[in-house]
Amino acid sequence: MPTQTHTESPRSAPVTLRVVPRDQHPISRKDISPNALRVLYRLREGGHQAFLVGGAVRDLMVGGHPKDFDVATSATPEEVKHLFRNCRLIGRRFRLAHVVFGREIIEVATFRANSDDGSGDRQVHDDGRLLRDNVYGTIEDDAVRRDFTANALYYTIDDFSVHDYVGGFEDVQNKVLRLIGDPETRYHEDPVRMLRVVRFAAKLGFSIDEATAAPVPALAPLLADAAPARLFEECLKLFLSGYAEESFLGLERFGLLAVLFPESASALKSNRSGALRRVVIEGLRGTDARVRADEPVSPAFLFALLLWPAYCRALIALQAQGVHAVEAQRRAADRVTVHQLSTIALPRRFSLPMQEIWLLQSRLSSAQSGPRPRKRVMRTLAHPRFRAAFDFLALRQVASDEHAEDIAFWRDAQSDPDNAIAVHPEVEGEGGEEHAAPRRRRRRRRPAASTQ
Ligand code: ATP
Ligand code: MG
Repeated sequence: MPTQTHTESPRSAPVTLRVVPRDQHPISRKDISPNALRVLYRLREGGHQAFLVGGAVRDLMVGGHPKDFDVATSATPEEVKHLFRNCRLIGRRFRLAHVVFGREIIEVATFRANSDDGSGDRQVHDDGRLLRDNVYGTIEDDAVRRDFTANALYYTIDDFSVHDYVGGFEDVQNKVLRLIGDPETRYHEDPVRMLRVVRFAAKLGFSIDEATAAPVPALAPLLADAAPARLFEECLKLFLSGYAEESFLGLERFGLLAVLFPESASALKSNRSGALRRVVIEGLRGTDARVRADEPVSPAFLFALLLWPAYCRALIALQAQGVHAVEAQRRAADRVTVHQLSTIALPRRFSLPMQEIWLLQSRLSSAQSGPRPRKRVMRTLAHPRFRAAFDFLALRQVASDEHAEDIAFWRDAQSDPDNAIAVHPEVEGEGGEEHAAPRRRRRRRRPAASTQ
């Protein structure tokens, strides 16, 4: 579709300022990154207005620990660059200054307007989406173009007060997420805001204002046109920040899951027993527990989990067509990955290990891959994705206990493979016909679709 530059008449935002003095809000300077404070003071010395803004102010208001600190200023990006030697300018859609202090980056954004007087640099797609947004404005303009009222609070080092132009202070106190302006228009401008509302509600434990929530189910399909790379980033924030389970439930409730992960959502729907959903929920709980314990979490494992229902369904379909088990697994993994890429740009460095986690499931299952000669056990243990695949197998216990013996075997094998082979004799060549001939050159495999 063609893009066009809209020129509208100048508009000053119809807002009033509420100043919340230091003794009426909980934000203390000692909770603010010293580097962010440095940036604020330096901008002020340079004669510019500067505020801490966005997620950091919101999180500090509710007693949280912000992971980054953003600054909004009247200075242009070039003026900011002039003030800081450790500054680089980035971005096209939003031109921003990054002030770099070792590993910490303070993002400094010039006050921006949501409307155009023709002098700025703004492009609007003819479906209402914003493509470029570099129209500088006043702080009032900057406040109303933000997404939620809770994200539009400004903290100043002048007198350590909080400036509120959109009722955000009260909303934070009441724990309500409310879009600024007309919700439908704001979702049309940027459909990713629908994911953001779910994410913030999950993270902050806020409720969603009725008018903000109401349009989401009907507008959810708009998300399919959002940039796949941005949706990937947003998914990482949704699921790897410690609130994955809540986020998943929110996405499901608003019909957003079906847009982000269409094949998984429909596989979950048609899985009457609910076993697949139990696996996903349990896996997300585990992810949340790891994040809270400061343990590493991997996008590959996360996507293996979120797309597991889709993979299982594709596998069953292929096997029903008579495709041989190993070939069906490979094709199901490829198919699900390729289809998913049209919505979410999952980089190969994550999609390949994700597929390995799936394909290893059958290799860890004695029912599917036969006996376990020592050499094969050692090779499997040495696989770079063994640990993730084992954790995944263990997770699947919530759906069925058919792999209980496999889990026990591989758990033991990790500390002492020889002993594991010895104490699990039933899988090493004894038992039924299938396991009778350890040196058989060609082993017939049983069908592998173990999909609960
Ligand atoms: P967190 O960093 O915890 O994810 P945040 O609120 O800081 O939350 P960012 O994505 O870092 O979120 O954005 C910083 C601020 O920029 C937001 O608080 C909001 O004011 C504004 N903002 C971000 N994305 C949008 C958007 N899509 N539409 C309007 N304003 C936005
Ligand atoms: Mg932020």
